[in-house]
Amino acid sequence: MRFWRKKPTDSAEPGGDVAVVDAVVDGTSADDASELHEQTERALERTKRGFFGRLGGLFERADFTDDLWDVLEEILVSSDAGVATAEAILGAVRKRTKAEGVKQSARVRQILREELVAVLEEPGLELPAWSRPEQPPLLILLVIGVNGAGKTTSIAKLSHAFARDGATVILGAADTFRAAASDQLKVWGDRVGVRVVAHQPGSDPGAVVFDTLQAADNGRADIVIIDTAGRLHTKTNLMEELKKMNRIIQRNHPDGPHETLLVLDATTGQNGLAQARTFTEAVGVTGIILAKLDGTARGGIAFAIAHELKIPVRFIGTGERMEDLAPFDAHEFVDSLLG
Ligand code: GDP
Ligand code: MG
Repeated sequence: MRFWRKKPTDSAEPGGDVAVVDAVVDGTSADDASELHEQTERALERTKRGFFGRLGGLFERADFTDDLWDVLEEILVSSDAGVATAEAILGAVRKRTKAEGVKQSARVRQILREELVAVLEEPGLELPAWSRPEQPPLLILLVIGVNGAGKTTSIAKLSHAFARDGATVILGAADTFRAAASDQLKVWGDRVGVRVVAHQPGSDPGAVVFDTLQAADNGRADIVIIDTAGRLHTKTNLMEELKKMNRIIQRNHPDGPHETLLVLDATTGQNGLAQARTFTEAVGVTGIILAKLDGTARGGIAFAIAHELKIPVRFIGTGERMEDLAPFDAHEFVDSLLG
């Protein structure tokens, strides 16, 4: 699966050999498709066995009787889809089955499948390409989220995927709050084989951002990823700090950061939604990395994120290794859930 690719610019121009970043998640080949399928299946194993596993039983009889709607709603809600989202989905399904006058389980299941995909593909949830050719060839990603959500690990996974695709990645250890945080990023950096810019614990995260961008500009990196602190007890300071990082990025890269990725721990369920709102109000979030999806039976949270936050899920965490990250694909996700 390619997370990133380089596209040569028009070589007739002077300096035309300079690569332009055309960062896309490109999963179009047959190999990519099967890798995506496998990873999504792995991430959803527990969810399938748990709540969504009960779905199968609902559709065993030939007809979908009226008493089953409540059971269906309960299954969705208890998988963390949330009441509002479950009602919206099932409202749409019921409306269609009524209009069609159908009762056959197989058809109801098909409509449910379509409406689940529709929620994940609501307008505004399309994934933009990360960098268009007319933009400067440096992709800047800011990664935010509360402590323990999976930021540093997800950054390692992204770096691994980008590096594998031939990109030069530089990481900025702007979580200077805990000494262990930059050490952890450095360990991952060594393992993945990418450079990490770090300062002393307790130093100014803004200075780390500045130095990382400078290193990237000097060293002709393709992608910069900034790791940030996530302590919650000083929420206001944290948000101010994140805003300041944004300003530092924009001073030299007015179009950056190209994405602000919020890492949510899928196992925290509806709590994650509240966190996401706080971050979104303060700094704006362009995409979600749903980490630890493999560790929960409540993968329905993805529907709540789409429906209630209107933020696209860009990646899912499928395990603790650096390979364990997959692009989020609405069809693949729903197909995997419904089997
Ligand atoms: P941070 O504080 O947000 O930087 O979180 P970390 O990256 O340090 O991750 C916290 C813990 O979650 C670590 O033990 C990771 O191994 C674990 N973790 C992160 N992502 C995943 C994932 O997708 N699946 C699983 N099972 N564990 C994960
Ligand atoms: Mg961290």
